[in-house]
Amino acid sequence: MGRRISVRAASGSASSGENGVSQVTLESISAEAPPGARKEAVKKRSAENIRDEARRHGIGAPPNTFSAKYVPFSSRSSSSEEYYSLDEVIYRSKTGDLLDVQHDMEALAKHDAKYWKNLFDSRVGKTSWPYGSGVWSKKEWVLPEIDNDDIVSLFEGNSNLFWAERLGKEMLDMNDLWVKHCGISHTGSFKDLGMTVLVSQVNRLRKMKKPVVGVGCASTGDTSAALSAYCAAAGIPAIVFLPANRISIAQLVQPIANGALVLSLDTDFDGCMRLIREVTAELPIYLANSLNSLRLEGQKTAAIEILQQFDWEVPDWVIVPGGNLGNIYAFFKGFQMCKELGLVDRIPRLVCAQAANANPLYRFYKSGWEDYKAIKANPTFASAIQIGDPVSIDRAVYAMQQSNGIVEEASEEELMDAAAQADLTGMFTCPHTGVALSALTKLRRSGVIGATDRTVVVSTAHGLKFTQSKIAYHSKEIPDLACQFANPPLQVPNDFGAVMDVLRKELSLR
Ligand SMILES: *Cc1c(COP(=O)(O)O)cnc(C)c1O
Repeated sequence: MGRRISVRAASGSASSGENGVSQVTLESISAEAPPGARKEAVKKRSAENIRDEARRHGIGAPPNTFSAKYVPFSSRSSSSEEYYSLDEVIYRSKTGDLLDVQHDMEALAKHDAKYWKNLFDSRVGKTSWPYGSGVWSKKEWVLPEIDNDDIVSLFEGNSNLFWAERLGKEMLDMNDLWVKHCGISHTGSFKDLGMTVLVSQVNRLRKMKKPVVGVGCASTGDTSAALSAYCAAAGIPAIVFLPANRISIAQLVQPIANGALVLSLDTDFDGCMRLIREVTAELPIYLANSLNSLRLEGQKTAAIEILQQFDWEVPDWVIVPGGNLGNIYAFFKGFQMCKELGLVDRIPRLVCAQAANANPLYRFYKSGWEDYKAIKANPTFASAIQIGDPVSIDRAVYAMQQSNGIVEEASEEELMDAAAQADLTGMFTCPHTGVALSALTKLRRSGVIGATDRTVVVSTAHGLKFTQSKIAYHSKEIPDLACQFANPPLQVPNDFGAVMDVLRKELSLR
């Protein structure tokens, strides 16, 4: 006891020459402050939430001279005559083109690369509202004009970039393989990154008294889960259209638990989509479907985050599973913005990985970008990318062409095997991640991706959302699949000898 106090006192007096004990124990409070003031400060801090605290400090916020607007996708790199405020409720241009959020790049370029790197790095892992979020740590590049008080964030992003050492070394002969775990997230998929931006903007519109009674989407999976969670956090009604009897309890339970208005409709996904479009034309319900360009602004931060996690060194390859094809464009946009503002000098080559059962982009690519046809997608274990007529096809083609990209495909057997192999090295991957991993396997075998190429596979959802297919795989219950990496439990009688026999055999002991 005595010794501990003397050590503290010694270190305190060494640094300041003041009374060491009180300084060390009162840490953040100035040594000159009278005792009463300290109590006062502590009390104030506990009554204050992190929004208030951030406002008091004006933490990390440069004066806001930045802005962004909607422009038609096809004229995004020119100064378009047609543009819209982000405060308008609009999803397409006059001619039916997709919209793109265009930032005032000149204003952003007034700060040099070092400024942005330092600013972004200074915010990682903090609680400062809202910059502790991986999305809002890049606020100036995402939605610069929104008031911090209007932001709806669950501190998404900042996801793990996993060094896949064993998978790389033992199965792919690679030494620099990484998996960006975007699915280790609030609702278990990367959709959170986009939904925080969309729901924040809706929150702002409602505070501006724009007539928005709720936010709606047609979805069977990750989009409705993310929408429901963010709306619940903000107290905004969420309306989810789901096809009856075509989705599992696991897919249903997130929006139900988050209190969304869940309409189970006697139709398929396309039918739900058609109905919600008609409904939103009549009622002031904001449409959160995937043509919404606000979501891509949040999703692009995953690309910026990868660069940041590599200390702004650019990987050679980034592989992203694609369905509606918004996310592959979001990654491109994030990388491209870093290049334009000088944070990096090149962008990685992008690989878009599709399920062979839902591969319109792959077919288009194979035709040399000559012959595009929407297709009817067949069922795939990678259910979130079972899309035959992707909304963001133009966005994806642009991203592929600008990044010297490649499109690959994976059969059901390939994607399930790839996911199972990754799991055997300590991950717990979803089938979509399996699609990306089998694309990697193919490109590695053909030598397109080299043994020392730094490669990032984007994992889009948590495997725990897709346990049914994993159980079927490990039970070898999938027709036409060998399930060669299945690891079913052994049935053993309740008997010591029987247990010992099994262990000796399995562990090769005598
Ligand atoms: C939405 C989703 C995708 C596909 O993203 P797109 O932007 O539609 O290409 C892939 N994986 C998972 C898990 C998803 O939820």
